[in-house]
Amino acid sequence: MSNRRRFMKFSLLGSAAILASKNLFAESPKSKEIKVVKDKPIVISTWDFGKEANEAAWELLGKNGRALDAVERGVKVPEADPNNQSVGLGGRPDRDGHVTLDACIMDENYKCGSVAFLEHIVHPISVARMVMEKTPHVMLVGEGALQFALANGFKKENLLTDKSEKEWKEWLKESKYEPWMNIENEHYRMNKDGKPGDEKNHDTIGMVAMDANGNLSGACTTSGLAYKIRGRVGDSPIIGAGLYVDNEIGAATSTGVGEEVIRIVGSHLVVELMRQGFEPEAACKEAVERIIKRNPENAKKVQVGFLALNKNGEYGAFALQKGFSYAVRSASENKIYNAPYFYKD
Ligand code: ASP
Repeated sequence: MSNRRRFMKFSLLGSAAILASKNLFAESPKSKEIKVVKDKPIVISTWDFGKEANEAAWELLGKNGRALDAVERGVKVPEADPNNQSVGLGGRPDRDGHVTLDACIMDENYKCGSVAFLEHIVHPISVARMVMEKTPHVMLVGEGALQFALANGFKKENLLTDKSEKEWKEWLKESKYEPWMNIENEHYRMNKDGKPGDEKNHDTIGMVAMDANGNLSGACTTSGLAYKIRGRVGDSPIIGAGLYVDNEIGAATSTGVGEEVIRIVGSHLVVELMRQGFEPEAACKEAVERIIKRNPENAKKVQVGFLALNKNGEYGAFALQKGFSYAVRSASENKIYNAPYFYKD
């Protein structure tokens, strides 16, 4: 084939690809029912316990407060709750018995802060905010993050509650490290029939909000996977994985097995899909399908959920498995929804 003919063939193929991709944008998948808030502000967050956190965020949002302040205040509720064993105080420890926390926060100007593998501090989200506002950096980890927190007035505390310690000691008897079947915690074991259990006693709180001025912010905080290897960090403190905010487009957050989310840079992906015209639920679904495409056998055994809000006040979620819920608070609603999911049985 002559060079010229080869060039023409390629350029024709190129145009076809461009046309196809234009079509794809025009026909971005639609959700069955689009959930949309009538009036700003709005706050949405992961899991049933998001409802209480939303209420705290709403105290600010309802009075024209800034979304950034609202999400920080909101996620501090589960962080301080000793009965919530997946976030902050009372979180389940790693397999050596240490509670190690991950958190990040992002505002309407692409400013972001994050801490990972942080011990002894009840409110990692506020340390993350301080990293964002008081340093030229985005992320501090481990001992350095702790030193930074202590130098900035945070108090060193024991985060391992009696309940979490007792359960960890039980776990130690077998010390069965089951990264794929049981990576989240004992409440998400597979049932005997090989299907995931649907008890939902996990996990991370991811919260995104739009304030009365139409500005978006988000926060994400967790104690990570129970009985993880010491030093393991999940998606939650990784900007783009556990959380992403683009004030032009929308915001997204995730929960579930962080390794799966990191591999597809999940929350950033969801926001970029919304930029291409996907509605929030459809964007979350597409991200979930990327996880499945990568490794369908593994995807069947784990849980990941995405939650998203766009600039028009539309919101939605999607998960791999049944059981992912999210809470919504606006002037017109205060509700928990069950997210749609991929694996029907
Ligand atoms: N995403 C968190 C992590 O991987 C845990 C979770 O949401 O269940 O650390």
